[in-house]
Amino acid sequence: MQDKLFIDGKWEKPRKGGTIDVINPATEEVIGKAAAGTSNDVDHAVKAARIAFDSGRWPKLTGAERARYLRAIAGKIDERRHALARLEVTDNGKPLPEALWDIDDAAGCFNYYAGLAEELDDNAEEPIAVADSRFSSKAVREPLGVVGAITPWNYPLLMAAWKVAPALAAGCTIVLKPSELTPLTALELGRIAEEIDLPPGVLNIVTGTGPDAGEPLTEHPLVDKLAFTGSVPTGRKVMMAGAQDIKNISLELGGKSPFVVFADSDIEKAVEWIMFGIFWNQGQVCSATSRVLVEEPIYDAVLRRLTAEAARIKIGNGLDEGTLLGPIVSKGQYDKILGTIERARQDGATVAVGGSRPAGFDSGYFIEPTVLTDMAEDSFAWREEIFGPVVCLMPFSDEEEAIRLANDSRFGLAAAVMSDDRTRCERVARAFRAGIVWINCSQPTFTEAPWGGYKQSGIGRELGRWGLANYLEVKQITSFD
Ligand code: NAD
Repeated sequence: MQDKLFIDGKWEKPRKGGTIDVINPATEEVIGKAAAGTSNDVDHAVKAARIAFDSGRWPKLTGAERARYLRAIAGKIDERRHALARLEVTDNGKPLPEALWDIDDAAGCFNYYAGLAEELDDNAEEPIAVADSRFSSKAVREPLGVVGAITPWNYPLLMAAWKVAPALAAGCTIVLKPSELTPLTALELGRIAEEIDLPPGVLNIVTGTGPDAGEPLTEHPLVDKLAFTGSVPTGRKVMMAGAQDIKNISLELGGKSPFVVFADSDIEKAVEWIMFGIFWNQGQVCSATSRVLVEEPIYDAVLRRLTAEAARIKIGNGLDEGTLLGPIVSKGQYDKILGTIERARQDGATVAVGGSRPAGFDSGYFIEPTVLTDMAEDSFAWREEIFGPVVCLMPFSDEEEAIRLANDSRFGLAAAVMSDDRTRCERVARAFRAGIVWINCSQPTFTEAPWGGYKQSGIGRELGRWGLANYLEVKQITSFD
């Protein structure tokens, strides 16, 4: 199936017949060939989704009926969780326990939105009190239509779930274009759709590159909504393409998320959360703890402990027992990260630990856990998303300076604050210009809570009831009584 596209409930070869090598980043071996979909395939998939929507085949089902399909998808993901997790490891590189976590989250996401689909049966209509008593009015929520979803490679199945589950729950039909670097688990969703007899055209999966398959999806006139997760430059292109037909657009983009540690914090705990925040998934996390601001009195102690702990992390193939840090997803990303570390060095930063390929690794895109210090506020490494296991540390003198430094970014996805003083934490949390704020922790993500960014980190929110609202239109119906 890997070299086929899932369109209208069937597996088919791409019209132009090409394939894309899928590479295991730990070994650099080709582990599969995905279909290289192009504009004709996208057109076919969008038309199938359009028919599935316009015929009412999916949107006219009750929420409870759609929920049964969503729960069945969750059940199938759960049944094959080990196989899916291993596939994710060989495709993306992440350690197996992390992949299992992702797969369970993906199943949880389908179950959660099944619940919201059921609730829609009762709460799709809301009466509105209007000022003129001769009229009665109500707001009705309806599925938005055909969704074009484009996802990245860092959480291949989970990012697909974050879009497919709420879109299907809302009653939308969807064409999913996963990253060409990691298409394998998304394709498994197609198999699952087949197994549970999801009506044809409701979920379509077109693999292929951004320019060949992603772009035609963003430009297709029969697509009502674009849901994109990826980098800022691509997000900009998606927005520009969608502007042509005034498509509804939601964007989950990059970040350069600060973690502010005040001097009254427990240093051991602070370092634990920093490590989790930057080395999980090799730092390839949009909300990664990539800028750490430490109050001066404890700066040296935090740096000492962080460098010592980072140097101890077990690097290896994600399938090997005990691996905590796997390879970077691709040669391109690997080169980019090492290039940024080199640029930081040239700009005057100190590489306190790491910074290179680890000794003893002949193949695979491995990079040591890296801590950078002594960088200028306007340096590239401090300001731009590195998307790798690289954390930048900077001291601050007081709360005002910490907030200024934290907010001095074009991104605004996540931010965290750590202190024993709860009132201060609340105050700083409100001062952050970011969509996700953590107090005394970093990165916990819940399907029930809104996820998304301020500023150039995106538009709209995924997850929770906000994620469902992404895929619903609101219609006003007013009558003269
Ligand atoms: P990317 O922008 O290179 O690619 C993302 C997707 O867009 C891929 O499927 C790609 O094929 C497709 N694409 C590329 N060019 C396109 C075009 N012109 N038109 C349409 N689609 C196109 O991003 P990436 O490297 O896969 O992912 C890393 C980025 O994603 C990081 O910046 C990260 O911060 C961000 N990200 C954000 C979140 C979030 O929730 N905010 C989550 C995960 C990743």
